[in-house]
Amino acid sequence: MTGIWIMRIGHRPQRDKRVTTHVALSSRALGAKGIFVDTEDRVLEENVRSVCERFGGDFDIRTGIKWKDAVKKFDGMVIHLTMYGQRLDEALSKIPSDADLMIVVGAEKVPPEVYERADMNVSVGNQPHSEIAALSIFMDRLTKGGALYEERNGRFTVIPNERGKTVVEISK
Ligand code: SAM
Repeated sequence: MTGIWIMRIGHRPQRDKRVTTHVALSSRALGAKGIFVDTEDRVLEENVRSVCERFGGDFDIRTGIKWKDAVKKFDGMVIHLTMYGQRLDEALSKIPSDADLMIVVGAEKVPPEVYERADMNVSVGNQPHSEIAALSIFMDRLTKGGALYEERNGRFTVIPNERGKTVVEISK
């Protein structure tokens, strides 16, 4: 699998702090390399980095990055998730397996330029739901579940367990 980056637009630090944190953590858990967030938010950065520091991986978060700049610099395919886009199953078959991907998700209303600039506008069903759900389903289908139990070499490793919690801590 090639590099997957997320571009989260419309982030309002007070109102969206939980949702954007969950967008970041879900994209990390499902195999993205990092996330760009359009509004600067140091608290969000710290919270996400703290999870990475404990649970491993090399996930990157950068805030205060305008979507137009991120897209301009990005050498790969830009996919905007929207309930109005083409069907997920049809879109997946058109995505080259060797392309780096930038996946754009919104918060409230997304500017029309995003629809125009994206290489693909993709729906995860045509019902309105959430950026966390849309991103998670899209990434899981794209990676065929491959990221879910990947070793991240973190300080803490969770051992799957039918009951209870088993967590191994690597001492420094
Ligand atoms: N009404 C808003 C609009 O016109 O863009 C949608 C807001 S929705 C709460 C926030 C984000 O979730 C959207 O920008 C989109 O990225 C994602 N989303 C919601 N439902 C979706 C769906 N069915 N398929 C793909 N993405 C979806």
